[in-house]
Amino acid sequence: MMRYRHYSLSKIPATGRCLECEGELGKGRRKYCSDECSLLHWARFDYNKMVEAVRRRDQCCQICHSSKSLEVDHIVPLADGGQLLDPNNCRLLCHACHVRVTAEWRRGRARWQRWMKGKQAKEGWAEPIREGGGA
Ligand SMILES: [Zn+2]
Ligand SMILES: [Zn+2]
Repeated sequence: MMRYRHYSLSKIPATGRCLECEGELGKGRRKYCSDECSLLHWARFDYNKMVEAVRRRDQCCQICHSSKSLEVDHIVPLADGGQLLDPNNCRLLCHACHVRVTAEWRRGRARWQRWMKGKQAKEGWAEPIREGGGA
């Protein structure tokens, strides 16, 4: 309990500025200037909050502006080291655009892998360790 108390106390900014955007804190605001900032902050810890924050921010598909069947897309895919819980790495896409973007990413990735393989062969990089070979 003590630890949690200490943590929450330390989160109250001494500067009187929003913890998220550093904007002025309005009357009755102790940590964040707005609900949006509060959501953005908690979005780093909770996937549902993150989705809510992205939905509030973007409101429609960021490619075709449709407002139907919206989904959260990770701009830098998780497979490429993108952050799962970072609203800045997320955007709202409709299902159709999401499917298209994902397919394009897969194609791009396959192309890149082929290119790397070709480069590896041409430049004679060390072969990856073969299974069971040991060396
Ligand atoms: Zn703020
Ligand atoms: Zn769309």
